[in-house]
Amino acid sequence: MPVPAISKSKYLSGLQCPKLLWVYYRAKDWIPPVDAATQAVFDQGHVVGELAKQLYPGGIEVPWDTDLPTTVRKTKALLKQRVPLFEASLLGGGVYARADILEPVGRGQWDLIEVKSTGKVKDIHIPDLAAQRYCYEAAGLYIRRCHLMHIDTQYLLRGNPDPNRFFQCEDVTDQVDAMLPEVPRRVREMRKTIGQEACPEVEIGPHCSDPYDCPLTGRCWKAVNSRPHSIFTLYRLGAKKTWALYAQGVLDNAQIDEGTRLSGNQQIQIEAERTGQLQINKPAVRSFLERLYYPLQFLDFESFQTAIPLVQLTRPYQQIPFQFSLHQLVSSTARPRHFGWIWDGSGSPFDAMLEQLRACLTDQGAVVAYNASFEIARLREAAAACPTHRKWVEAVIDRTVDLLEPFRSFDVYHPAQHGSASMKSVLPALTGQDYAGMAISDGGMASQAYLTTFYGNAPQAAKEQTIKDLEAYCGQDTLGMWDIVKALGKLVRKP
Ligand code: SF4
Repeated sequence: MPVPAISKSKYLSGLQCPKLLWVYYRAKDWIPPVDAATQAVFDQGHVVGELAKQLYPGGIEVPWDTDLPTTVRKTKALLKQRVPLFEASLLGGGVYARADILEPVGRGQWDLIEVKSTGKVKDIHIPDLAAQRYCYEAAGLYIRRCHLMHIDTQYLLRGNPDPNRFFQCEDVTDQVDAMLPEVPRRVREMRKTIGQEACPEVEIGPHCSDPYDCPLTGRCWKAVNSRPHSIFTLYRLGAKKTWALYAQGVLDNAQIDEGTRLSGNQQIQIEAERTGQLQINKPAVRSFLERLYYPLQFLDFESFQTAIPLVQLTRPYQQIPFQFSLHQLVSSTARPRHFGWIWDGSGSPFDAMLEQLRACLTDQGAVVAYNASFEIARLREAAAACPTHRKWVEAVIDRTVDLLEPFRSFDVYHPAQHGSASMKSVLPALTGQDYAGMAISDGGMASQAYLTTFYGNAPQAAKEQTIKDLEAYCGQDTLGMWDIVKALGKLVRKP
């Protein structure tokens, strides 16, 4: 197979893992389709890129043509106009680059500007720019400076988004230049990798999620996950020393035990993995359950966050609550009562949420949330926006109990959790219930559905369906918490 030029995004993949690079060029069908959450990240990047273009009036977008050579020819023609170019496409040194912005400066020189939807310059941005600089210079351009344009996370939306205040631009030329000499060698190695017939053998490791979650994780980690004692699950739960032993090629039981001793209270998890049975520290779980007093209230929030704020007086990536579900039980034998709220998009979501919550939450009883730090943070942010509710919010937080606690501390562990203490793993493991078949089955889908419907001018019928789907999903979360509590109660009941 003739080896193609490496695009800068594949150059970054090649830095992360040669196997991933090879798969992109030789076995693309191994790459699973992009999920909704990842697509949402890409979409955010696109929207931010569009806003950045407003900073360069008179700039010209180089359209992607039918093929790369034609697009490169068009770019070369436009370069002569000496105006800012968006997505200028050039081939050079075996690399293909399409910079976000090329700005003409000085005598025949250009500044290279990469726009990122992050709140700061990250390490991975430097090789990204180095690959582009290398490509453009090999193609004959004189690049003067390299800039990284990122979001100012302290930006507060007032009126329409203002790109002059939304972005911060940092000169990263020195860092890029320091990395530039290694680019040609890396490109040569990568092209060699792509040219080989066999997929490179690469051990799994921390690089699988650094700097990005690798799309092949499911495939590569599957084999490890099926090994005895599931080293995979130990790693996912943070047994770093056990992981270190595994990484050294240590796999026998004695050495896993050693790793376990080093990682402390994961003995219960190891035992569950070995026996295939649920393991529980009954005194600890009993004392946790004693903190849950009636009327019990199970609370769950859904929120969205966007790079460019959609709500006035909020900041980039601020969590905006748009829904809550509350199941309330006055006694262990009572039927749970359900309350819910979905923001209609008008006024302040913080005010609307707190008003509605105050109307249904009782003044007594434990408020139970799963991974409660999320709910507590949303409550505090809402109180900061609506100070008249602050005292009430702090009183609610004081009686909030985190149902994640017994799972995070390994006081209870079921092998069917597969190394995860999240609600989506614990609920099916302990109760047999799951989210299969639901139109919305996780928080990412919920926020996407909300944004698409409420900010995408969806027709009324679609809106009504989304509301039903959101209610079903969030309601399952809060009712599921009650079912987990009941399951824990059964497990620790004295005979
Ligand atoms: S999952 Fe890990 S080993 Fe497999 S291709 Fe990705 S980075 Fe490489």
